[in-house]
Amino acid sequence: MIDARLFEAVFSPDKIRLDEPMSAHTTFRTGGSADIMLLPSETEEIARAAEICGENGIPYCIIGNGSNLLVADKGIRGAVIKLGRGFSKVSVSGCTVAAQAGALLSSAANAALKHSLKGMEFASGIPGSVGGAVCMNAGAYGGEMKDVVKEVKVLCGGRVKSLSNAEAGFVYRSSRIMQEGMIVLEMSAELEEGSYDEIKALMDDLNERRRTKQPVDKPSAGSTFKRPEGNFAGRLIEEAGLRGFSVGGAQVSEKHCGFVINKGGASSSDIIELIDIIKKRVFESSGIMLEEEVRKIGEF
Ligand SMILES: Cc1cc2nc3c(=O)[nH]c(=O)nc-3n(C[C@H](O)[C@H](O)[C@H](O)COP(=O)(O)OP(=O)(O)OC[C@H]3O[C@@H](n4cnc5c(N)ncnc54)[C@H](O)[C@@H]3O)c2cc1C
Repeated sequence: MIDARLFEAVFSPDKIRLDEPMSAHTTFRTGGSADIMLLPSETEEIARAAEICGENGIPYCIIGNGSNLLVADKGIRGAVIKLGRGFSKVSVSGCTVAAQAGALLSSAANAALKHSLKGMEFASGIPGSVGGAVCMNAGAYGGEMKDVVKEVKVLCGGRVKSLSNAEAGFVYRSSRIMQEGMIVLEMSAELEEGSYDEIKALMDDLNERRRTKQPVDKPSAGSTFKRPEGNFAGRLIEEAGLRGFSVGGAQVSEKHCGFVINKGGASSSDIIELIDIIKKRVFESSGIMLEEEVRKIGEF
């Protein structure tokens, strides 16, 4: 049990939640409770939350929109610092879009559209926060965060620092930010002037492709696995004969085999068991070992 009083000098009561069910904060809609969740809305609050946890030996993790997370059914011992609505300002100046970590990536992409700036169309349908997307180097349809990010403001060892694109160390679905446990506070993306109608048409087309090809109406965390070199996880899973295969409420999507979905009533244990079976069966049929893209957190 964590003593909430530790945080009361910094956080107003509405920003502290005890025993918070993580199923309400993940797009998989699974997972047990976090001992405590903090909802900061200022950089100072984020820094103090991390500091208080450090001083008191409380493990903590940062989450955004929970769209790439698998939280243990036993929950999370420690604190979850959620960067969301309260830390979500987006602004545009010239060709630069600046966004706080808790802003939805779609809000940043829509701000770019409003100012006829091109380059972020790929991001408009990714249901993550700016912080999660930068940390994961999220990408789709040939674009990645690393193509647009100019600068990232992070909290690292209790200090606010600015990282250039190169310093952020973006690689496929990861970054130096993730590897070194930094906290993304804000990013600025450098875009190009374009035509509003063309940007809008491309966004609409990409979002339509998502709707027709992906199970966006079912709880999931997007692509469950990273794309293996020279192949596609979905194709390998299909070739292993696993389309529609399920464990409890977890299922390989009939619509897109690269997605494990919660078809109703799944636990995180169901999802993990299914992931293990997929990895084993794909390895047996193709010799390729899939690697999870989804991030597991909590007491597994
Ligand atoms: C239907 C669907 C479609 C998807 N399509 C795509 C797609 O096309 N491309 C793609 O790349 N992904 C896709 N995803 C996955 C997901 O949306 C992305 O990975 C997204 O970037 C995760 O952002 P988030 O805010 O939800 O992060 P979370 O899931 O909350 O966290 C993910 C990771 O980022 C870390 N993190 C979050 N915020 C911060 C921060 N401020 N500072 C430091 N670390 C942080 C967390 O600790 C965790 O390790 C999809 C998911 C769904 C459900």
